[in-house]
Amino acid sequence: MSVLVFVDHTQGSFKKKAFETVNYAAETAKRIGGGDVTAVVLGTVSNEEINQLGQYGATKVLHLNDARFDNFSARAYAKAIAAGVQQAGAKVVIVSYNVSGKAVAGILAAQLKAGLVSGAVDYPQTDNGFVVKKTVFSGKAFAHVKITSDVKIIALVPNTFAPKKGEGAAAAEALNVSLSDADFGITKVAEDVVKGEIPLSEAELVVSGGRGLKGPENWGILEDLGKAFGATLACSRPVADAHWRPHHEHVGQTGGTIRPNLYVAVGISGAIQHLAGVNSSKTIVVINKDPEAPFFKAADYGVVGDAFEVLPKLTEAVNKFKA
Ligand code: FAD
Repeated sequence: MSVLVFVDHTQGSFKKKAFETVNYAAETAKRIGGGDVTAVVLGTVSNEEINQLGQYGATKVLHLNDARFDNFSARAYAKAIAAGVQQAGAKVVIVSYNVSGKAVAGILAAQLKAGLVSGAVDYPQTDNGFVVKKTVFSGKAFAHVKITSDVKIIALVPNTFAPKKGEGAAAAEALNVSLSDADFGITKVAEDVVKGEIPLSEAELVVSGGRGLKGPENWGILEDLGKAFGATLACSRPVADAHWRPHHEHVGQTGGTIRPNLYVAVGISGAIQHLAGVNSSKTIVVINKDPEAPFFKAADYGVVGDAFEVLPKLTEAVNKFKA
């Protein structure tokens, strides 16, 4: 049975989560008895970049090299992916549980009359039907959901698995679908591109600030710690809502989902909606002046103290250790 994976790119280059979804699709194909692993790529991406997908398990790539796809449009993307599903004869469709994946998955499910499990955190089990494990209640619990429809869609939580590179090569084919400008129906008015920093979804080390830092003028002490660690910055939602920090730094249920090796949370209470985005981090360090802060329950290491005293000392210690 053939598996199709929608592979997202950022301005023509694939990030870690793209390779992760291809690996996941390849493992899923094995579990359902083998078959093609077809990657769908939409927009301007070089052949060199596309060739990498074979090394992560794709056996075929359907590429629609149409610059209109360089700006995300859920309707047009879903239409193109649905055409890819028909072309490949795929029975399982994999997308990443990120902004674009979430947006297309629902439309695809309606179009293909397919069962959808969003927020998957493991490979499907096939001993007794087709069962997918997903997080529920903002990551507090898991559910095992059986999909019984002919076509099945899985939206995989990014950073669930570390992508593994192999040796394979994928055959490229054009994706056959015709789209009118009306199918796109979206105009990009602005783009917020973050330069220089490792993006949060890729970062192994993350230093994050909450309302306990009192205001944007105090972010310097967090940035200093971030620099000392070589970490990417994140924040809680109220911090982004108050425009203390840009929205792309917001993590949690309504923000990014991350799984770094180290997550340092400073002045963040640890509300369930925040934990939903970070509680799979390998090591969590919490710095909070309230010993009763709920985040301490999820922490591997905790410092009860005032961030304004603790951070400069911690930064100094990290810098000394590096010297
Ligand atoms: P607060 O709750 O105000 O906590 C500040 C913390 O800082 C406290 O624990 C305090 O003890 C500590 N502190 C204060 N001063 C100091 C100091 N000097 N030194 C050290 N510590 C100090 N939130 C998210 O983060 N991400 C989401 O995606 C998200 N989605 C949501 C979705 C919905 C539907 C809803 C209803 C809420 C969502 N929230 C989300 C909001 C969430 O419920 C919390 O309100 C939010 O996470 C709290 O942010 P905070 O911890 O920065 O602030």
